[in-house]
Amino acid sequence: MEKARPASLASSDTVRVTNPGGSSPFVLTCDHASNFLPAEFGTLGLAAEDLSRHIAWDPGALPVATRMAQALDATLVETRISRLVIDCNRPLDAPDLVPPISETTSIPGNAGLSEKQRAERIALSWQPFHGTIERIVEERLARGQETRLVSVHSFTPVYKGHDRPWHIGIIHDDDRRLASPLISALKRLAGITVGVNEPYSPADRVYFTLERHARSRGLPCAMIEIRNDEISGETGQRKWADLLTGIFSDLEPEEATRPRSHSVRKSVQSAS
Ligand SMILES: [Zn+2]
Repeated sequence: MEKARPASLASSDTVRVTNPGGSSPFVLTCDHASNFLPAEFGTLGLAAEDLSRHIAWDPGALPVATRMAQALDATLVETRISRLVIDCNRPLDAPDLVPPISETTSIPGNAGLSEKQRAERIALSWQPFHGTIERIVEERLARGQETRLVSVHSFTPVYKGHDRPWHIGIIHDDDRRLASPLISALKRLAGITVGVNEPYSPADRVYFTLERHARSRGLPCAMIEIRNDEISGETGQRKWADLLTGIFSDLEPEEATRPRSHSVRKSVQSAS
């Protein structure tokens, strides 16, 4: 899938991999890591201050994911182009793949794109990002390395005028093998409000990267959303990265919540 490499030279720089040979079972992705706009896009018609807001990226998510990757010796794949150009965590048929509006802000530079312009954006960022994850996952599976996918995002504290009370949200679908023990571990911590499928859920079509690379292969996965005021500075980024690293260090997928089709041992209980 998506083997074709984009023709643009710049596209080779639009995805970055940290720890490509990471020993951890976890592979991290940061789908909205950057607010960078290549010069050819100008400001997409937006004011400079809009480009630093959450509509352009997930502020704080990359430093957290990078620190986790270093501490866990986990592979991390990150985008290096703003989601305003193209949203790598959306299927190609999503209406907000190239968002015409984000929250309440219209994006003039995304209006009325030609098929060619759209294809160029896909080739610039979407294909390299997903092609890289695809290759990494396939190589790991080929050598028998256990693989669990976790995407790291951040969300804005106030959305369309509504306060969001959760410090962190864990997003999952009906495969809860990884999400369940992660949620339990977070809920044991004092002073942290944990959202379960909040502030988003897979029904909002925000689960694409994990659906494409983990769910399609039956690999355990979960999506992490950290409220961005918690990770706006280095102190908060360190706090959350270290807290999550501690949890992930001994986080094992639960057998009990495997989808029914995978549960073949009912009467024959394993002794091990
Ligand atoms: Zn995000």
